[in-house]
Amino acid sequence: MSALFARARAWLLSVVCVGYLLYAACSPLLLDQRVPLEGPRLMGVVVSAGMLVLALTGRLRAFWPRLAFQVLLAFLTLYGAQLTLQSGSLGEQVVYLLWAMVAFPSYVVLMGSRLGLVIGLLLIGAIGVMVTRTATLSPEQQLYWVTGLFVVLSLLLTHYLIAEFIERYLTIHERTSGELQAARLDALTGVAGRAALEGELQRALDAARRTNSPLSVILSDIDHFKQVNDVHGHGVGDDVLRAFAKRLRRNVGSAGTVGRWGGEEFMAVLPSVSRDDALALAERLRQSVSESAIAGLQITASFGVAALRPDDDLNQLFSRADERLYDAKNGGRNTVR
Ligand code: GH3
Ligand code: MG
Ligand code: MG
Repeated sequence: MSALFARARAWLLSVVCVGYLLYAACSPLLLDQRVPLEGPRLMGVVVSAGMLVLALTGRLRAFWPRLAFQVLLAFLTLYGAQLTLQSGSLGEQVVYLLWAMVAFPSYVVLMGSRLGLVIGLLLIGAIGVMVTRTATLSPEQQLYWVTGLFVVLSLLLTHYLIAEFIERYLTIHERTSGELQAARLDALTGVAGRAALEGELQRALDAARRTNSPLSVILSDIDHFKQVNDVHGHGVGDDVLRAFAKRLRRNVGSAGTVGRWGGEEFMAVLPSVSRDDALALAERLRQSVSESAIAGLQITASFGVAALRPDDDLNQLFSRADERLYDAKNGGRNTVR
């Protein structure tokens, strides 16, 4: 479950716990008499304090502490119901039902929508049976109990629906954002992947059209890269790709976006950069690659540069960069065209 949900759960349960602790602390003051801290009230204080500490220290993320608290709460709920049903005091019965209205929806928050709902329904059923079996209750009191339990049930179902919706939304959100992130970056080199690069190129093209500003691209391809793999192995080939991408990114800097087009071909998308400036940048890239070792190997690369023309689409711009790269390869490699 998402970190966001875990944090929200911790806050919600903290509020419930603080509420109960305040109630336990304030009720003797309000009643102006000593209310003995014993039985379910004492257990309520211990459980609330424990849950508050776990919630605030982030330990409620784990399943087992949550389940342990849920079992304690379920026991307290039944124990409290039994005592208040026998007490005959209407006031105590009302207070019990009010706390049940708070506690039952929190099961959904604590255990997740489905498990929380099942536990809540079982407890409501059990209390219902206890109500019908308590001979000391007048028919009027039984009606109060049934009404109270019905309110608890509606609140539980409402929270179930909301929690279920949020859980489903968060699951979908996490899956798609994870997939999007993975698709955006190239797994090997960490630069933009093909999809992200195409998206960036389309955005840059639209912006260039709108603002009537230049746009250039540099397509680069490592020379004789197959030999690197053949001679040094695929692992070294991968190291070279990573280091090559890093070098391109460092040299391009804030001028544009570097991405892996595929294999050992990389592209720089350069918004607001004229063809001349892009040619100069490509030349700096070429020198940077050829003049100092990359992943311990002396390699070179070829570069094709193209600038946006008035009626270019994305494919035409890319094809021109590819043709220039082809020219650079034919021109003896380690060249900019
Ligand atoms: P040229 O100078 O004409 O570009 O020659 P080249 O050997 O670089 O060109 P070619 O396209 O024939 O070879 C590209 C090689 O890149 C072939 C392929 O095995 C290798 N390659 C593609 N992707 C990866 C990768 O992810 N890791 C490694 N290690 N090699 C890769
Ligand atoms: Mg190559
Ligand atoms: Mg190639």
